[in-house]
Amino acid sequence: MTQNIAFIGLGNMGGPMAKNLIKNDFNVTVYDLNATAVAELKAAGADTANNAKSAVANADVIISMLPNGAIVKSLYTGPNGLINEVKDEVLIIDSSTIAADDARAVAKACEQKGIAMIDAPVSGGTAAAEAGTLTFICGGEKADFEAAKSILSAMGRHIFHAGASGAGQVAKICNNMLLAIHMIGTAEALNMGAQQGLDPAVMSDIMKASSGNNWSLQVYNPYPDVMPNVPSSKDYQGGFMVDLMSKDLGLSQELAAKSKSATPLGAMATQLYQIHQAGGAGGLDFSSILKLLQNKK
Ligand code: NAD
Repeated sequence: MTQNIAFIGLGNMGGPMAKNLIKNDFNVTVYDLNATAVAELKAAGADTANNAKSAVANADVIISMLPNGAIVKSLYTGPNGLINEVKDEVLIIDSSTIAADDARAVAKACEQKGIAMIDAPVSGGTAAAEAGTLTFICGGEKADFEAAKSILSAMGRHIFHAGASGAGQVAKICNNMLLAIHMIGTAEALNMGAQQGLDPAVMSDIMKASSGNNWSLQVYNPYPDVMPNVPSSKDYQGGFMVDLMSKDLGLSQELAAKSKSATPLGAMATQLYQIHQAGGAGGLDFSSILKLLQNKK
């Protein structure tokens, strides 16, 4: 029988992810605070709800893709928390990037109600969300992970079980700290070459065939007009906002302190993104860190 999925949070990532579930013939009911995002999904074939509670009323599976841990906790375990509204046999999949401790707290509250929950943050960015090629990094009971796999496969290509509850978030935060570091490094190298009169497109080709090659260069070039359809070629609109990268780096530093791990480059990346954010760039894509290096608004 086709599963009923409630999808909550239809932003840059959640919108295209929900569309891929519809394309794969799941029954999808959506909710977001933003009515325009809901209308777009309705046009794509989703059922819509006026609030989260009605969205989950008939759900076999709930997927959330929300900005931060406070919102995720409030949605599920707050005063009108969804864990009091759902069917017993529901599976909750939270794909937001949040602190591992927040994910564990929600999973524990679910467990006390007999509800299954996994953390399943994603990597790959908006292009992968659209193409259905995300990487899912999951934490939770193995059986719940196995139950989620066929649904996650409709939105992603690589699906990992990182370990117990919260492990998906730990792995995701390690990855995003590295992403910030190589994005800044890539922007620094391209900017220095351009200051020396080199063409950033030629520089990119050289580094992609050399030892500086990395994901930012391959699929997310921060220098405008080197690559089509990436945020840097669209005035840094869309993509993964500086506000969200700054949040993830903050989580990385909390994790570093907690686990007594030395992350000097992670700390530097956190500071640089905070400076960029304080300069008013919070709503731009994170590859706009190039503008900070160039001292451009
Ligand atoms: P976004 O800001 O574009 O979307 C978030 C959506 O959640 C918005 O549409 C907002 O209206 C909605 N929302 C907020 N509070 C809500 C509530 N209480 N009820 C219902 N809807 C609510 O963010 P995004 O880029 O889609 O990112 C979502 C999550 O995915 C974040 O945790 C982010 O860190 C993570 N992530 C993003 C990317 C990326 O490239 N953008 C990549 C990997 C992971």
